[in-house]
Amino acid sequence: MAKGAPTARVVRTGAGPVRARRAAQALLSSGPVCSGTGPAALAVAGLAGGLREGLAPGTVVVADQVLGADGTVVAMIESAPMVASELRRRGLPVTIGAVVSTQDLVTSGARRAELAGLGAVAVDCETAYLLSPGWPVPTAVVRVVVDTPERELRSFATIPGGIKALRNLRAAAPVLEDWGRSAGARRVMLAGPRSFCAGVERAIATVEKALERFQAPVYVRRQIVHNRHVVRDLEARGAVFVQELDQVPDGATVVYSAHGVAPAVRSEAAERGLRVVDATCPLVNKVHHEVRRFAEHGFQVVLIGHAGHDETEGTLGEAEGIQLVSTPSDVDRLDIRDPSKVAYITQTTLSPSDVAAVVARLSERYPEVVGPHSADICYATQNRQDAVSAMAAECDLVIVVGSSNSSNAARLVEVSERAGARRAVLVEDHSGLRLSWFHRASTVGVTAAASTPPRLVDEVVAAVRGMGPVAIEERTVAAENVSFPLPVEVR
Ligand code: SF4
Repeated sequence: MAKGAPTARVVRTGAGPVRARRAAQALLSSGPVCSGTGPAALAVAGLAGGLREGLAPGTVVVADQVLGADGTVVAMIESAPMVASELRRRGLPVTIGAVVSTQDLVTSGARRAELAGLGAVAVDCETAYLLSPGWPVPTAVVRVVVDTPERELRSFATIPGGIKALRNLRAAAPVLEDWGRSAGARRVMLAGPRSFCAGVERAIATVEKALERFQAPVYVRRQIVHNRHVVRDLEARGAVFVQELDQVPDGATVVYSAHGVAPAVRSEAAERGLRVVDATCPLVNKVHHEVRRFAEHGFQVVLIGHAGHDETEGTLGEAEGIQLVSTPSDVDRLDIRDPSKVAYITQTTLSPSDVAAVVARLSERYPEVVGPHSADICYATQNRQDAVSAMAAECDLVIVVGSSNSSNAARLVEVSERAGARRAVLVEDHSGLRLSWFHRASTVGVTAAASTPPRLVDEVVAAVRGMGPVAIEERTVAAENVSFPLPVEVR
C-alpha cells in the first residue's frame, strides 16, 4: 500500500478495534487540520469479508457509509462516487456500498447473513472504530474482499482470493493518493440558467404523453434530445429510438425529435400512414420557416452550422441548393449563383462569436447578404453561454455536464475556455470526473447543456463535495420563464 502511494503518510493501524481507535487518536492529536499538521484527508484501506452472495474475492468495496456492528450509521462517506469511478477506470472490479465493522473476525455463514441484513456489503474490524461521528476531514474507505459467503475464511480456498485482494488493494493505492491530493475546501459556482430549456422539456414531455396515450412501443426518430440519460430513461419506459423511418413498423406512432426533420421525412411518414407526433422545438421550426421564406424569394441559402448534426440535417432538407458552412474559410468554398441573392440562417445552438466570424466573411464576399429577422441562436443557448461566460474567469475548473454529441454542451466548453477558465471539461455525468482535475482547483464552476437533466448537476456537485466541504454560489444572469405548448396530438 505504502509503495503505491509514495507521497501519502501511511499509518498501519493493525487489526481490530483497539488498534484502530488508538490510530485514530494519534492521527487527531497530530494537530488541527487548518494548521497543516493534522491530516487534510483520510483514506482507510484494507481487506474485508464479503457479505453479499456472488461477491467475488478481489472486489474493491468503496464505502458510501460505515456502520457499527448494530447497524448504527457511524459515517456517511461522500467520496464514494469519485473514488469508485477512478478505480473502475483502472480496470478494478468495484462495488459501492456500506461497510460494517465488528469486534471479531466473521467466520460463520449465519453471522455474515445477519450483517448482510443490515444492508452492508463487506465487513471489517477497524473502520467504524477509526471514524467517530463528526470525523473532521474528508474520508474515503476502500476495503477489498478476501472471503465470501461461498468461501469462508478458514478454508484453503481463500488463499487465491487473498492474493487477488492484496494485488487489488495495492492497485487501489494510487487512486487513494490522488483523491487525497484533490481533497480540500472549495467554492462551487453554479451557472444560471443551466440544464433543461423549454424545447427540451417539451420534447421529453411529448414522448411521455405519447407513451401514455398510444401505449408502448412509441418510436422516436433519432435521440429525442442529445442526452444519453434522457434516452435511456425513456427507453426503459417503452420508447424505441430509431435512426430512420424504415425502422418503424407500419401503423406505429413516431415522434420527431426536438432537432426537427427534413420535409422528405414528413412525406415518407405521410406516405406510410404513420401516426406522427412532432416534438421539433418551435425555435428550430422558426429556422425552417426562414429557409422556406428566403427560398421563395429567390435567395440562395447558406446555413451556418455543424455537419452531421440532426438539426442541420433537417434544415438542409428545406430548400434546394442550400449550403452548409461552419467556419469563415468554408465561405470561400461556396458555390453561389447570384451574389446579390444570398441569405444566411444559423443552427440554434452555436456560439454568437463563431457565427459573427462567419457572417463577417459572408459580408465581405457578398456585401448584399441578408440574415434572419431575429437571431437564430436560441434564448436558451444564449443564456447558458452568457451565464458560464460571466463566471469562467474566476474558475480554476469549469465542469460542463452534457453528452458528447450535444452541440450546446460543446459550445459551453469553448465559451468557458475563451472567457478565461483555467480548464473546462465536458462530462456525461459524475462518473466522468477525474481526480487530477481538482488538484489545484479551489474554485469550480458547474453548468449543464440544455439537454442535461438537473439531477446530473446535483450528482456532480455531490461528487465534488466528496473531496471536501463546498461553499455553493448561484451565479444567475437571466431568469427564464419560457414554455411551449405540447404538440396537439398529445395535448
Ligand atoms: S436549445 Fe433552444 S432550440 Fe434547442 S430545444 Fe432548447 S430552446 Fe429549442
